[in-house]
Amino acid sequence: MSSPKQAILPGKTIGVLGGGQLGRMLAHAATRLGYRVHVYEPQAGCPAGAVAHKEVNAPYEDLAALADFARECDVVTYEFENVPSAPLQHIESLTALRPHGSVLATAQNRSREKRWLRDNGFPHARFAEVAADGDLEAGLREVGVPCVVKTADFGYDGKGQLKVMSEADVSAARKKFAGQPVVIEQFVDFACEVSAVVARSASAAVRVFPIAENIHANHILAFSIVPARVPAEVLAKAEKLARLIAERLDLVGVMGVEFFVTQSGDVLVNELAPRTHNSGHYTIDACMTSQFEQQVRAICGLPLGAVTLLSPVVMVNILGDAWKWDAEGKCVGEPNWDALLAQPNVRLHLYGKAEPRPGRKMGHFTVTARDADMAYEFAQKYLARL
Ligand code: AMP
Repeated sequence: MSSPKQAILPGKTIGVLGGGQLGRMLAHAATRLGYRVHVYEPQAGCPAGAVAHKEVNAPYEDLAALADFARECDVVTYEFENVPSAPLQHIESLTALRPHGSVLATAQNRSREKRWLRDNGFPHARFAEVAADGDLEAGLREVGVPCVVKTADFGYDGKGQLKVMSEADVSAARKKFAGQPVVIEQFVDFACEVSAVVARSASAAVRVFPIAENIHANHILAFSIVPARVPAEVLAKAEKLARLIAERLDLVGVMGVEFFVTQSGDVLVNELAPRTHNSGHYTIDACMTSQFEQQVRAICGLPLGAVTLLSPVVMVNILGDAWKWDAEGKCVGEPNWDALLAQPNVRLHLYGKAEPRPGRKMGHFTVTARDADMAYEFAQKYLARL
């Protein structure tokens, strides 16, 4: 356990493994507080590197490059979940790693994550695990159809998933997942999806940001609506679960917890992400403290910031689909930024990615309004005009 005795104060260096948009927004928050930020990312020209003091491009398996990186940092965190665990152990032997590598090891593999939820008594969808050379049909029989088959490793945004709605889908599942370890989950006919971003400091203080209601399209988050339009009991259950999970994991840092809300109002944990979360981007524009500043505070041993919501808000992801594409799939034009920027209740965040691709997260915008319904109406209208 790495509870720092002393805070890592502004002027010190924060290392970030992964150079995507989460690292970029972390770098914005950290540099505003006077920290230096170093980014470690295999691919050159990454979104976070563009706003950091230093960008190191080397593979995660390059232990010598990682050691050099770690030695220059007072604390290292990660913005990317699929960092292999051996390099993390290496870093942990050289400098403070927050959250601890064990938290990432639990969350980055669906089998371990589900088992951890079950062993610790957290509510979740029924599931079965099937080894790489295991019997998929037996797993499907155990869970029952409909269900969702997911690869145990490297899954996010619905990648590596297949819904099995009837017996007719079984052969497709067999083909898609041949030779891979999978988790088979009961299909949850949820009323809605919500998520929490929870922060826990080295001195065990916990703060949970207002719960977001999430609407997905093609398995990718499309809208986060805050306050979530669900009964107060549901909000309370989600908040309590997020807090308990952070405590049980001995989290030091920030974590996203995704939930399914069932038709009867039960709250099931879907997924854990021990880093900032897409559904928490609204906090930059609509909370007293953003999730990224909270991450800096938590990993540096500073007091956590207030999570007060300043306005009802909706966050809208901008995917590469919003660019103009011709029939051959060539990108032929930008979204209509003018229309968006002309709105008085919009803030636009672009991640500086050079190449748009359908399904790729290129940026987001937030819309504030008098209430959540109104913000959601505006958000849909503005997105359609992009
Ligand atoms: P995940 O990558 O596991 O977060 O899944 C992405 C999205 O797929 C979720 O946010 C849900 O919309 C949907 N999904 C995943 N698992 C299930 C499930 N067991 N039942 C119903 N929908 C699911």
